[in-house]
Amino acid sequence: MTQPAIMNTYGRLPVSFTRGEGVRLFDTEGKRYLDSISGIGVNALGHSHPAVTEAIQQQAGQLLHTSNLYSVEKQQALAEALCSVSGMDNVFFSNSGAEANEAAIKLARKHGHNRNIEIPHVVVMEQAFHGRTLATLTASGNRKIQAGFEPLVRGFIRAPFGDIAALETIAHNNDSVSAILIEPIQGEGGIHTLPAEYLAQLRALCDRYDWLLMLDEVQTGNGRTGKYFAYQHTDIMPDVVATAKGLGNGVPIGACLAHGKAASLLQPGNHGSTFGGNPLVCAASLAVVNTLTSNNTIEQIAENGHYLLAGLKQQLAGAPHVKEVRGQGLMIGIELNTPCAGLVSQALAKGLLINVTAERVVRLLPPLIINQQEIDELLSILCPLILAWPEQSSAA
Ligand SMILES: *Cc1c(COP(=O)(O)O)cnc(C)c1O
Repeated sequence: MTQPAIMNTYGRLPVSFTRGEGVRLFDTEGKRYLDSISGIGVNALGHSHPAVTEAIQQQAGQLLHTSNLYSVEKQQALAEALCSVSGMDNVFFSNSGAEANEAAIKLARKHGHNRNIEIPHVVVMEQAFHGRTLATLTASGNRKIQAGFEPLVRGFIRAPFGDIAALETIAHNNDSVSAILIEPIQGEGGIHTLPAEYLAQLRALCDRYDWLLMLDEVQTGNGRTGKYFAYQHTDIMPDVVATAKGLGNGVPIGACLAHGKAASLLQPGNHGSTFGGNPLVCAASLAVVNTLTSNNTIEQIAENGHYLLAGLKQQLAGAPHVKEVRGQGLMIGIELNTPCAGLVSQALAKGLLINVTAERVVRLLPPLIINQQEIDELLSILCPLILAWPEQSSAA
């Protein structure tokens, strides 16, 4: 499929969808698919969720945009809902995950200058993914994302993921650090989780050295891991949280949340966005947050996440080429010991949408509304394909 009018930035699968409903997508031929990637973690409530559809329709007939020159009622309501569910103090709204991280990085710079650090540095992780703007691709720990776009941005120090001793060493040897930016679970990097006690140790270290603890919850936020934010599996409070993806269920919105001293770093004129937090996206996002936080939706996500993880572990047990099945909530990676990008088109042919990241990790990010029957269906399509890999590919 050639799309000459579109810049060649994505290798696209030869399929196009015309509509979706819940966990299902339908292509131009009318073929039905089980969506197990949610537009890369975006369609948290699945497709055509009635609460989101209604909010968008109603807001579209009322008011789309006014700019941040005026107060925006839906933006205010969304900010209050996000602060209430997170314990954070205030919010800056952006249009994407990368922009939410840009706001976080600007907070880190401000904090550094307030501490009289001449060139403030942000500690970032190996295999991290923070976005495609120049600062966020610099913060990302993947040379493929950076190559060709030099010069990179100054002010970042790389550290190994999950290694608190390595951070102690950086803190000892370097007094120019003002913040650390880390994903609670690395998404694009291959679904890498942190040791259980890591975030508490990191909080203590950040307090000791006056670093802002900044979490990139663009992928892990909004219920994905079985808590509203992934840090809520622990007792800590971060200083800054960036989120996006599932926040809008498909409308482009990101948010940078701040707590304590980080909440008063920015003053009028310091940052801005024309579209950020406009009435349309905030109305949609408010429907998402209200739906996620009502009833026991998030507890159900945690339970279904356990069910999916247990099912995968059981059905893939003993397969010599399956290195590890890991994750939290409905954010799961299956690491093989061979490259496995070819599994994506095999699954597609069988009506299942999955993703492979970091070359050998099958990534599952199903809509958070998936039920156990649909999880059984997912397992029954995916596990045989994984078990037969790579024999099928070498025979093909
Ligand atoms: C997707 C992602 C981003 C980038 O978000 P965009 O909306 O594509 O800019 C940043 N950080 C993490 C952890 C992500 O998963």
